Amino acid sequence: MDPSDLRKQLSEAGRLFERHLQTLMGHRFLVRGGVYRLHRKCGKAGCRCAQGALHATWVHMVREGGVQRCRALPKGGVARWRALAGQYQRFRRARRELARQYARILDLVDQLERARAVGPPRRRKGAADAAAGSV
Ligand SMILES: [Zn+2]
Repeated sequence: MDPSDLRKQLSEAGRLFERHLQTLMGHRFLVRGGVYRLHRKCGKAGCRCAQGALHATWVHMVREGGVQRCRALPKGGVARWRALAGQYQRFRRARRELARQYARILDLVDQLERARAVGPPRRRKGAADAAAGSV
């Protein structure tokens, strides 16, 4: 690839890298894990859930030290916790993209180096003789 194409691609990769960096720095608060809506049976005899009308519960789930933890969320807090978990998901996505873009930038830099590299200086006959004579 010619160096001007490589420079254009490098500029674009740099812009994307910067954008992901801004996303990473933009969130003041986040909560690890995710917020999900579960449908469960309570187990009480004669409850409507026994006939299939399951109870809906919002929970926060997170893996801590290899163990999956699940906590029920209070009704009034669902929107806030969903937003915080959503920010966490965006944070992690931006981190993945940042790593991917960084690898791409290094690859383009290596290509640019190969495209721009010229051969080593050629040994001139006189210079070679002088070098050999000085040893
Ligand atoms: Zn029930």
